[in-house]
Amino acid sequence: MKRLSRPRRSLWLVLGLVIGGLVTAATVAVAGLQPADLNFTPHSESQMTNIDVGRAWAKNYYGAHTATSGPNGTWDTPLNLESNYANEARSVAEQSDHWLAARSRVPHRAIVLDVDDTTLTTWNYELYSNWDFNPTTNAQFVGLTGNTWTGNMFPPTPGMLDLVSHANALNYAIFWITGRGDAQHAATIANLVDDTAAGLPNIDTVTLNGKTIPEVDAGYVMPTPIDIGHGGFADGLFTKPPIGSYPTYLDKPEFCGPYIHTGRSCPTIQYKSGTRAYIESQGYDIVADLGDQFSDLEGGFANKTFKMPNPNYYLP
Ligand SMILES: [Mg+2]
Repeated sequence: MKRLSRPRRSLWLVLGLVIGGLVTAATVAVAGLQPADLNFTPHSESQMTNIDVGRAWAKNYYGAHTATSGPNGTWDTPLNLESNYANEARSVAEQSDHWLAARSRVPHRAIVLDVDDTTLTTWNYELYSNWDFNPTTNAQFVGLTGNTWTGNMFPPTPGMLDLVSHANALNYAIFWITGRGDAQHAATIANLVDDTAAGLPNIDTVTLNGKTIPEVDAGYVMPTPIDIGHGGFADGLFTKPPIGSYPTYLDKPEFCGPYIHTGRSCPTIQYKSGTRAYIESQGYDIVADLGDQFSDLEGGFANKTFKMPNPNYYLP
């Protein structure tokens, strides 16, 4: 028996090493998602993707093979929930759901979510704008025509409603941190939750450039109440303050201090990590931070980060 048990044991050891190696390889593959080097200069055309080809591939990825872009294009077609994008977004949501469910006894547990292309998907605006962000037309999709409330146009990101409602059921505090400005605070609550929750009149349809689509109330839970320290907001959606109105908790050398003292806008990594540090200073433990940009995820103050898919734009 002893002689038999040794080979068996070593067989298990070998199997364990093989499985361990595979797990390590998978981890490396995930960790292999890295921020882009924007200073990279291709030596050859073959080192980059042709822009028109990239747009065609994006359409295919979003299950919109025949889509056309521009204000007269097919931006009014509903987000395809069977696309490879939708499947990948749901996959990340499920991975984070497992992570949260396994930590549902962490004291003062919280999650942090980004808005655009993490909990609301802006694919329709990529088509409308032909991948050329314009603050005025983007604001119309956010829900504001000038300063007038005209209704939300971004659908929830596939998989994320289930994730957030499950986290809420597990008594996680739910916070959103977005680069959207304070001026879009109410419109953002209206899109994430519903119009009346934001204190805005209910709107049922939105008409833009002659096309009418259903107005979106995504149906997320309200963010957990917390004083965000500027703008008088206390609902756990951290919109970005205007220059000159940054809260004192961001005025630290490692966060926004150098920008506050020189009258500049605080970059995303410093702004978002400084805000997460503030949330943790209020007694919360951020168990997971979800975002579509690396700048949503870098800078610490989260036990684990989850990268949502977004091939459309890059925000350092
Ligand atoms: Mg985003």
